[in-house]
Amino acid sequence: MATTIEWLETSAARVLDTASACPPLGDPGWDALLVELGVAPLPPEERQKHFTEGPKRRGGAAPIEVRLALTAIHDRAHDAWKRMNVDDEERRLAQKLSSFVDEGMREYLKRVAPAVTTASIFANARATTPNYGGGVGAGMNQMKCVACGAPRKNASESLVCVYCGGKLQ
Ligand SMILES: [Zn+2]
Repeated sequence: MATTIEWLETSAARVLDTASACPPLGDPGWDALLVELGVAPLPPEERQKHFTEGPKRRGGAAPIEVRLALTAIHDRAHDAWKRMNVDDEERRLAQKLSSFVDEGMREYLKRVAPAVTTASIFANARATTPNYGGGVGAGMNQMKCVACGAPRKNASESLVCVYCGGKLQ
């Protein structure tokens, strides 16, 4: 019988592989996996919106769906962990669970990140050059998602990123 840690790792790999291989509007394989995990797939128009308005990505499922899928896996393993006796396996699992969702998201966002070209490196360098002009500084202290970089659109928005579920800071 596979250990819970092994189950956790194969399940995460399945989510990341299926999600990064599917088109931005999803496909039957990804939809079926979400349903299997008890996660409701986003409606097609929401998926389209996340792809066009969210942080740039080369394809793949909406990051927020990936986070929900990873969270569902985490929660199942966490239930199993609560019933375990305190031993090495239990300690390793507890440690793994503490960073499981964030690590999975980091890996997923890396996999679907847009291809880096020389032109985009320069554009990025210009964009991040600090503006010492002071005063106006449009968006200088705008909050951003720590995971995917999406900016907070307005002050009434919650402190959780709508695109990937990361923290806005
Ligand atoms: Zn985000």
